Amino acid sequence: MRLEKVLKEKFHFSSFRKGQKEIIQDLVNGKNVMAMLPTGAGKSICYQLPGYILEGTVLIVSPLLSLMEDQVQQLKSRGEKNVIGLNSFLSFQKRKSALHSLHRYRFIYASPEILQSAEVIHALQKIKISLFVIDEAHCISQWGHEFRTDYLKLDDVKRKLGNPPCLALTATATSKVIEDIIRQLDIPDVAKHIYSIDRPNIAINVQKVDSLDDKIKETIEFVKCLEGPGIIYFSSRIWTEKMAMILRENGMNRVAYYHGGLENDDRLLIQQQFIQDQLDVICCTNAFGMGVDKANVRFIIHFHYPSQIESYLQEIGRAGRNGDLSIAILLYCNEDHDLAKSMVLHDLPNDEEWNLVFTLVSNPKQKLLLHELEALLYERYGISEVKWRFMKYQLETEKLYVNGSINLNLCVDKAKQKIVNTVHQRVRLKQKNLASLKRWIENKDSCRRETLLWKFDQALEAHPESCCDYCKFDIQKYRKTDHTSKNDEFTDWKEELRLIFKQNGERQNG
Ligand code: ADP
Ligand code: MG
Repeated sequence: MRLEKVLKEKFHFSSFRKGQKEIIQDLVNGKNVMAMLPTGAGKSICYQLPGYILEGTVLIVSPLLSLMEDQVQQLKSRGEKNVIGLNSFLSFQKRKSALHSLHRYRFIYASPEILQSAEVIHALQKIKISLFVIDEAHCISQWGHEFRTDYLKLDDVKRKLGNPPCLALTATATSKVIEDIIRQLDIPDVAKHIYSIDRPNIAINVQKVDSLDDKIKETIEFVKCLEGPGIIYFSSRIWTEKMAMILRENGMNRVAYYHGGLENDDRLLIQQQFIQDQLDVICCTNAFGMGVDKANVRFIIHFHYPSQIESYLQEIGRAGRNGDLSIAILLYCNEDHDLAKSMVLHDLPNDEEWNLVFTLVSNPKQKLLLHELEALLYERYGISEVKWRFMKYQLETEKLYVNGSINLNLCVDKAKQKIVNTVHQRVRLKQKNLASLKRWIENKDSCRRETLLWKFDQALEAHPESCCDYCKFDIQKYRKTDHTSKNDEFTDWKEELRLIFKQNGERQNG
């Protein structure tokens, strides 16, 4: 009964949703928990409520700045003053003073990167951490092995903090990924709470088109006739901009594009406008969406499909969080398969790039420091930041570099072989994941929902009335009902930006 009382008092909800109470009960009893609940199910409460029962501070590792800020604001709006996000938004002064008074916070959100700072760890060691939470824990497996390698060091952070009880949360992890998360975090005796990740209110429609031109035409048609708001996913930045322009040329003005190449301010603004219903459609890369708790998204279109089934589920899960009927449409043509294949290799250093690194590292005349190697690779060889982070992690893991200096006691050839093997293994895994998604896309002979769940080792409990293109459903249900055009209300997001930031019109984004 006590838990319900806290739920009512602190969150103003009268009952728990499926899974919440069981998870919370285990946590207040001091257990380690690995939990999977569908997107939008209410995972945040699973660690926020214990924050009012357990003695000490709940530390939450969160992958994105925007997500962190969102959660901090949400708690503040519920009257919680003792919450802070430790991230690069904090000024030097604020960070200093926050680190001096960490004990006063009930909730501390932090990025995996900031937890690598000795100063931050030192401050955290002085307080009692009642619960160590990893939100969106699939990031450990999905990103950790590549460009967010600090995710793989969270087990070390946990140890340094005296091994507090741990909660890993996700909405999309295959059994293998769940095991990977548990292994990477080194959580012993973990209570697993794995629930069905099906989202019955989202119809799944996979549609093959003959050509790129047809795909563009279909997309325009869908955006014109489907009830919004909606999100369209692309695998490249350039396409988000292109399609936003095409849609505008077709009379849809409340459209914006969003990708990692935009300035932080622009990204926050566009996200905010979308959340506040000032925009109908966002053309974006996978940089958009995580942590966007927008209840009324009605359609998701995949103009390009992602590289693994987990990402697909995550992305379509942004629709219908308020329970309304929503639709996920995946459009593909034959050429898309080659594009997807090349995307898989995009962020990982290739053999040639490794050869270059090892030639530089084994030069007997010049023992490069780590930061000198970094500068050389960036400036002279144009290696991307994402690739460098991966390289750096591998060089350090294999102890070729220790504390920023090259390790002269090591056999470079052996280390090289090990690293190259790791990379090849990673590439094979990614290709396998992609092939698995491709098979799902091309399989027209079974229920989409059922086969999607199979990939997560789950069985479908019941087919909803509007299920998928195999089970057939009525697309009319998703059409716009209100024909009043909202196009005139809103001028142009760039115009809006200029007004807000008082910048001249010359500034380019992306
Ligand atoms: P998730 O992290 O699982 O995607 P969130 O924690 O962001 O989901 O919660 C989604 C929404 O559900 C939030 O607006 C939250 O306030 C609401 N919510 C969570 N638990 C409950 C509950 N027991 N009753 C009603 N609404 C809830
Ligand atoms: Mg969440």
